[in-house]
Amino acid sequence: MARLEIDGLRKTFGRGEDRIEAVSDLSLSAADGEFLVLVGPSGCGKSTTLNCVAGLESVTDGEIRIDGEVVNDRRPEERDIAMVFQNYALYPHMTAAENMAFGLKMTTDLSAAERRERVKSTAELLDIGELLEKKPRSLSGGQKQRVALGRAIVRDPAVFLMDEPLSNLDASLRSTMRTEIQQLQDDLEVTTVYVTHDQTEAMTMADRIAILREGKLQQVGEPLDCYYRPKNEFVAQFIGEPAMNTVRVTRRGDSLVGDGFEYPVPQRADGLPSGEPFTLGIRPEAIEIVEAGTGAATGTVEVVEPLGETSHAYLTVADATVTVTTDGPDAVEEGERVGIDFPPQRVHLFDLDSGAAVA
Ligand code: ATP
Repeated sequence: MARLEIDGLRKTFGRGEDRIEAVSDLSLSAADGEFLVLVGPSGCGKSTTLNCVAGLESVTDGEIRIDGEVVNDRRPEERDIAMVFQNYALYPHMTAAENMAFGLKMTTDLSAAERRERVKSTAELLDIGELLEKKPRSLSGGQKQRVALGRAIVRDPAVFLMDEPLSNLDASLRSTMRTEIQQLQDDLEVTTVYVTHDQTEAMTMADRIAILREGKLQQVGEPLDCYYRPKNEFVAQFIGEPAMNTVRVTRRGDSLVGDGFEYPVPQRADGLPSGEPFTLGIRPEAIEIVEAGTGAATGTVEVVEPLGETSHAYLTVADATVTVTTDGPDAVEEGERVGIDFPPQRVHLFDLDSGAAVA
């Protein structure tokens, strides 16, 4: 049980011209028992943040606090944290049971019998009892990751840190393990910080997600809040699949006008100045197909990708490509001219330069 606070974290690597600021003034906290996911594109500083929390990297500036206590100067094993890595990081010469017991031996004064008991009950929880005497080389990727999870859980730490733990697994195993980790975390109620570059993983697993870009926090909030109310264009494009469509529009009286595009100004954007350009964002799943010549724009269907329940249709509108998620495989046909429309509450408007949401 613990609250984790990251307060004004800054981390730089290198010196002089080679200096990189991997994390800039990051303040973020995870409540007791919360599942917080750090998400963002490669190189945005997710792993560096996690490593600073774990004590595997020193911090340049700022404080890491666990339950109010500053842990900056504590060694990793003194932080009451357990970490799970993408590459499992199991000791190859030890059996699964020995791998799980090793951390206990290093960080607790439990007797050998007590350690065995803890390993056994954790193995039952993860359904890996029959793997305990095996060495990592004879385990599949999914089994190794279960053992690595077991090694973290068995220690009963205050905080779990997980760095892309599912990236080396195939798609179907990834989705099973996603649910399992979520359930485990729910049952164990251990404060967890989970790093991924996969927005679907972030959306489905997190209590709250923190979206990073170039070392800076863009938004932190519940997944659906970030989806429906992105604070800027970067978050809007990063969260949601396929990515949000964006077009440049200018307000002309009561309309937003763009290339091949006209839409009434939504009521909540009424205060925006006329003659000013904005970026209009609309999610593929918020668009409906209407008769050509009606709606906000008319375009030609270039490609349809059927997915079963839904399809992704790619339309050319003027010079732009607009992605639309349609129902079933037959909603539109390649080569067809169709109109598109959408409800005003699904329209996002961003400042053209800063990308900040303005309505
Ligand atoms: P990925 O998803 O690719 O792992 P990430 O979001 O976890 O990316 P980090 O690994 O934290 O990003 O890296 C952030 C930045 O810091 C990158 O520019 C990276 O090159 C740099 N960086 C990370 N570790 C070091 C290091 N030990 N020395 C120098 N630069 C580093």
